[in-house]
Amino acid sequence: MRQVNVYRLDVGSCNGCDIEVFSAFARRFGLEELGVKLVGDPSEANVLIVTGVPTVKTRDMLREVYERLKPPRLAIAVGACALSGEAFEGSYSVDGMVDEIIHVDAYVPGCPPSPHAIVEALVDVLKLGSKAWEVPGGFRGMPNIDAEKCTGCGACVQVCPTGAIEMVDEGNERKVRFRYEKCISCASCEEACPEEAVELGAERPRATGDRKAIGAEAKIELRRCSACGSTFAPTPQLERTLDRILEKKEKFSGYRDLIAQTMGLCKNCRNLPENIRKAKILLFKLDLTA
Ligand code: SF4
Ligand code: SF4
Ligand code: SF4
Repeated sequence: MRQVNVYRLDVGSCNGCDIEVFSAFARRFGLEELGVKLVGDPSEANVLIVTGVPTVKTRDMLREVYERLKPPRLAIAVGACALSGEAFEGSYSVDGMVDEIIHVDAYVPGCPPSPHAIVEALVDVLKLGSKAWEVPGGFRGMPNIDAEKCTGCGACVQVCPTGAIEMVDEGNERKVRFRYEKCISCASCEEACPEEAVELGAERPRATGDRKAIGAEAKIELRRCSACGSTFAPTPQLERTLDRILEKKEKFSGYRDLIAQTMGLCKNCRNLPENIRKAKILLFKLDLTA
């Protein structure tokens, strides 16, 4: 049996990931039987496990430790901090990403990833067969997004503590993208979504060779202003808003088309004097109906 030695390096973690790395080497996970063990000297190791985000003080150390490994060198980045910087990306002390400093062979998402995920990644990278464990009930994995339900409202973007959700408008489309490399499975997005379009998966996220490729995305059509033609808001969000107004105020249902026309104007066109006048007349009529 081939012996594989692993060295763990913390370049700026909270130690959560380190605890899980040590747990992964517990006897019950069977790495020892596969000939994989932790060592305390990088020059005895072939594999480097990196946790945390590189800082101005650890950046050079990461490169030096990697170069001390015995070839062929393999590196595995463990945890959201090592993948993307997580909430610390852009912080004054952060100095680049792990894969900007050394070559990374596999990325294990999560904050922290479970020992099972770390073992699975090691077994995959070292081509030692496969390992899989049943995921316990109630496990919070990565958020899935239902593109049919998402209205592009952006509530999830506002509450995400790590900036893992991006919202980009391109042409007549809004993209809501969940970046799993930054996600800590906190479920804030699931709680905040008014459309129940987000649900945290019950699966343990698998290691990947491309951290930027992991994620989920919804594309939502943007409405064009009926006056000037510029895009200004997601069509489903406007439709849901109108539905909600009429659910709460059934008496307004006779004015549905007029309200929809007003809502179909962008902010600039809505502020034109003739449109302000029309909106005031509509409000007056609604007031009389209420
Ligand atoms: S990914 Fe989470 S657990 Fe791991 S070092 Fe970063 S903050 Fe700590
Ligand atoms: S679960 Fe949602 S809110 Fe929490 S970090 Fe992940 S994407 Fe952001
Ligand atoms: S997932 Fe939910 S909260 Fe996020 S943009 Fe879509 S509808 Fe809004």
